[in-house]
Amino acid sequence: MSARSGVVYLVGAGPGDPGLMTARSLELIASADAIYYDRLIPPGALDPVREDAELVYVGKAPGRPSMPQEEIGERLIEAAQSGKSVVRLKGGDPFVFGRGGEEGEALRAAGIEFEVVPGVTAGVAATAYAGIPVTHRDDASAVAFVTGHEDPEKQESAIDWDALARFPGTLVFYMGVKKLAANAAALIEAGRDPAEPAAAVERGTMDGQRTVVATLGTLAETVEREGVGAPALIVIGQVVKRREALAWLERRPLQGRRVVVTRARAQASGLAKTLRNLGAEVVELPAIRIEPRIESKEVKGAVNRIGEYALIVLTSPNGVQLLFEAMRAAGLDTRALGGHGSADGNAGRVTVAAIGPGTARALARVGIVADIVPERFVAESLIESLAGVEVSGKRVLIARPAQARDVIPEHLSDCGAEVDVIALYETVREQPSADAIEAAQSADYVTFTSSSTVRNLTEALGDRFPSDARIVSIGPVTSDAARAAGLEVHAEANPQDINGLVAALIADAKG
Ligand code: SAH
Repeated sequence: MSARSGVVYLVGAGPGDPGLMTARSLELIASADAIYYDRLIPPGALDPVREDAELVYVGKAPGRPSMPQEEIGERLIEAAQSGKSVVRLKGGDPFVFGRGGEEGEALRAAGIEFEVVPGVTAGVAATAYAGIPVTHRDDASAVAFVTGHEDPEKQESAIDWDALARFPGTLVFYMGVKKLAANAAALIEAGRDPAEPAAAVERGTMDGQRTVVATLGTLAETVEREGVGAPALIVIGQVVKRREALAWLERRPLQGRRVVVTRARAQASGLAKTLRNLGAEVVELPAIRIEPRIESKEVKGAVNRIGEYALIVLTSPNGVQLLFEAMRAAGLDTRALGGHGSADGNAGRVTVAAIGPGTARALARVGIVADIVPERFVAESLIESLAGVEVSGKRVLIARPAQARDVIPEHLSDCGAEVDVIALYETVREQPSADAIEAAQSADYVTFTSSSTVRNLTEALGDRFPSDARIVSIGPVTSDAARAAGLEVHAEANPQDINGLVAALIADAKG
């Protein structure tokens, strides 16, 4: 169920890996009116938000005071009282060192309804990604989550070091890096064995996760020497030794490799995800962006006579979306299509052709099953598939981007059709952000999925193209384009698709 108005949802966003967000959290983020979020939430966690949702950052900014807890509570109450559905998004789990309890109490006191959505807490997630099981039949039958950084205003320590020293199991310290030396000393003083295995897990489940292993007696020094920074978790217990057999993250085929992906088409985000799951740090460089052109006279004209077409050809998912947007703007929906005879003999039904399965899927989402979906993603393949379709003397609409080849319209005109071509959008070059360009500088790999990604990326990066990066291309045409741009190609996909590209990259990384 989506977010209800007047309700506050205390939602855990998990430890940092976007894949560890719960289905419920994503559903609420996508439907809430307002989202109050902290600093430690996964990258992309806010991507699904509604366009008109209110986003309020209430976390700490380095060097600046954070919003006081009472003020956060008041803002949540006000938002809910004004009838909004509110998501309060926190790192990890809201009730594990997340002050979710206090916020819930404030809401209850004000008579505001709330719900709690648990998240995967860092104490079990960072450790699991480090190959450290927090319990183990032989090593630990209990685990304690402890704060390593108490509220400084507390008069007396709430941490009973004697009890923790005797605790028969694993100790997991949150917020424990700054005071690590003092806390370890307190534990040893209280009788815990300084030789007990201990580890610090930095940036658990995030890009660049790092684990350092030492003993209770030496961990503070090791952490200092290795420069372990926040966020990090401290684990003390025999279970730390299990990492020798259980470490898995570091064994992934692309662990720690930085790979540049051009976000030139929908495909690329699937590639980015696959690479991330193999351990790569992916730098996505958006090289082009879609600019709708549905206000033009030509588009409006075609929409007005949309029912007259016997054949409609759509060339991309964006095209499908924008054609229907243009129709909606004119007060039309799918019923306006094709009452005037068709091109393939189905009386009274327009024939719809889609280039590529993605376009067909986009059509399916608006309730249209495409009649013609050519196997290959190119104009020539569509022409072959249109062979049996009678278009002579019929009106045909080709809805496509501004920059497109004229193969299809020319072919259909030659067949005697009355062809309208409309440009629904333009793809314009986009300059990647300074951060993305900076991140690309230290790339180990640059991937090219088409000749146009070669062009877009080399132009966008200019002389800041990472010259030491190895180049992986999706096939010979793309490789030629890369060589023409003065680049050396180190690996080429075979088969020539995304899976082939990933396989080529893995093989190259293995050396
Ligand atoms: N509610 C959060 C914890 C917030 S307290 C949860 O349930 O996970 C913040 C502390 O959590 C940090 O100081 C650090 O010790 C730990 N932490 C949070 N995310 C972490 C991560 N990705 N890797 C390691 N430790 C993390």
